[in-house]
Amino acid sequence: MVAILTPNLTHNYWPGLIEAYRSFLPVSSSTPVVTLLEGNTPLIPVSAIASQVGRGVKVYVKFDSLNPTGSFKDRGMTLAISKAKEEGAEAVICASTGNTSASAAAYASRAGMQAFVIIPEGYVALGKLAQALLYGAQVIAIKGNFDTALQIVRDISANYPVTLVNSLNPYRLEGQKTGAFEVVDSLRSAPDWLCIPVGNAGNISAYWMGFCQYREAGKCRRLPQMMGFQAAGAAPLVQGKPVAAPETIATAIRIGNPASWDKAIAAANASKGEFNSVTDEDILAAYRLLASQEGIFCEPASAISVAGLLQLKERVPSGATVVCVVTGNGLKDPDCAINHSKNGVKSSVAPDLEAMAKVMGF
Ligand SMILES: *Cc1c(COP(=O)(O)O)cnc(C)c1O
Repeated sequence: MVAILTPNLTHNYWPGLIEAYRSFLPVSSSTPVVTLLEGNTPLIPVSAIASQVGRGVKVYVKFDSLNPTGSFKDRGMTLAISKAKEEGAEAVICASTGNTSASAAAYASRAGMQAFVIIPEGYVALGKLAQALLYGAQVIAIKGNFDTALQIVRDISANYPVTLVNSLNPYRLEGQKTGAFEVVDSLRSAPDWLCIPVGNAGNISAYWMGFCQYREAGKCRRLPQMMGFQAAGAAPLVQGKPVAAPETIATAIRIGNPASWDKAIAAANASKGEFNSVTDEDILAAYRLLASQEGIFCEPASAISVAGLLQLKERVPSGATVVCVVTGNGLKDPDCAINHSKNGVKSSVAPDLEAMAKVMGF
């Protein structure tokens, strides 16, 4: 077993990430902070996964699924919505594979703003859609994929009074970089490898910015290798060219032309990291492994960070510390869990002792 880390907290009330990391963020005393007390997510040691890697490698999951709307998107959204509010915006818009829309809708409702979310019809997990609707967003489904949706919202925000809150909005990445701060605050050092899912490539760019700023501030001495993973059917950064018709079960990263392409390549190069692709089959295997052996229920897109690590396990330096970012909550996509679990429901069992005992194998 890997030891649970002793917390490095000076107080026991978490004020949300803008207050916690104010000196590292582009806010002033006049910024209205719109927060759901996001951030401060656990860094969980995962010993079953570590033992599959072997050679004394320590593996942790940064469980960002525990943010208020169930994904890391809240880290960027608290800042993007706070700044939009400061600038007097009354409406925000985003294209989304689901989690950005849930997060934008939640923070916009808290700020008293209207949220418009544009989604690829048929490719958004049920839980995410449910969230956006109940938070009160205007949900518009288009006959097209995420990349098309993103182009449309860029055009709309350039021509109408509505603020874009996709990760092209620089405040999104500024907020998301706090994930790297928390990893360093917990480990009291940067890890050797950071394994992270890559879709629109904002989060890998944000984490890299966070690690670099924290090192400059003297909070850590070294920087991790940034290991980005894309689904095999949606791997433009691995192939070096956009993918016209991306396909994967991991809908959160079903993106063919990432907006933060250049930043992500720069992060991988500067950190001696790399991009690799993972098949849907291996993504699902890691999805089941995380749940059945570690008790960690995430969405398929999130499981790719662990699937990717296992794919490259021979190359992890002995004794290294690896952090896998788990980006979204498994409850977002219950269909996927039910369709891909190993155990089906044993149904129509008679409600008596004998029948029950038999079904249970006694
Ligand atoms: C948005 C998202 C990603 C991809 O992050 P990018 O910044 O677009 O690369 C991965 N996993 C989940 C669950 C997401 O919601």
